[in-house]
Amino acid sequence: MEKLRVVLRTLTPVHTGDVDRRSREVQVSGIRGSIRWWYEALVRGMGGYACDPTGPDSCRFDYHAYRVRGEVDEGLRDVCPACRTFGCTGWKSKFHMRITDVTGKVGDIRLDRPGMTFVVEFLPVKEISQEETWLLSKAMWLICEYGSLGGRTTLKPPKFKDLGLVELVEPMRSEATKEDVEWWLGKGIDASESIAGRLSRMPPEHPDLRYFFFNRGRWLDAKSMNELVAVDPSGFMRGKIGESKKVFSFSRGRRFWGYTSGEEMLSSVLEKLLQMGIKGTVTGKEVIDEL
Ligand SMILES: [Zn+2]
Repeated sequence: MEKLRVVLRTLTPVHTGDVDRRSREVQVSGIRGSIRWWYEALVRGMGGYACDPTGPDSCRFDYHAYRVRGEVDEGLRDVCPACRTFGCTGWKSKFHMRITDVTGKVGDIRLDRPGMTFVVEFLPVKEISQEETWLLSKAMWLICEYGSLGGRTTLKPPKFKDLGLVELVEPMRSEATKEDVEWWLGKGIDASESIAGRLSRMPPEHPDLRYFFFNRGRWLDAKSMNELVAVDPSGFMRGKIGESKKVFSFSRGRRFWGYTSGEEMLSSVLEKLLQMGIKGTVTGKEVIDEL
């Protein structure tokens, strides 16, 4: 099985760990978690189902179903696409992730400064389908073009600004098309009552790319951020105590992005941004159309 790789360059420091906030050591798990987060948002945005791996409705491999005929697919029937790729209870991830330098060396790669070129390698331990490769490749593209890469996207430490901007140097190749992937995601829902049921009662707080907003020409200072999140009376965008706001702004990259819990909140955000004189914001739906 061929390894998948994507080459990136840091535009700002990348926050890769919670213990060592100076990011001296590359912590693969933080980057992996961030990629998974965008992958899940993309799957949901395309109408597929991705569970919250930390929530009560998370997937597990059905070992009993698997045992009957020894078919892996039977055990995976109720497992969402994100868990199939990244793993869940009873099912190991399909790949081992490595961060290397451009020569393929794993070692002292410093991502705590701009201008560092590095490689994210996905070494398959199980067959990764073309649809999964497409989703991984587009998740990486989204992170670079519109979003950011971080140890914990939703818990950004307040002292450090402008973390996680990366540039795509060499994208990951994929042979599937968007139509293939949409069909494949739909098939997974049709094949499983559990998935169809969990999709129908999915909490709106689960990040869904359709309800994201992105701006690649402006950034928001603290005052503008507060003004923006105030349009949401539910407090979702402001974040609970210990959580960050659902808006992320990067003065250096002149970029901001954020997410809402649905159509209505998204409309309020877009309206407010225009009132604030901020143009050029695109929605996740528009970004999905670009894929
Ligand atoms: Zn899942």
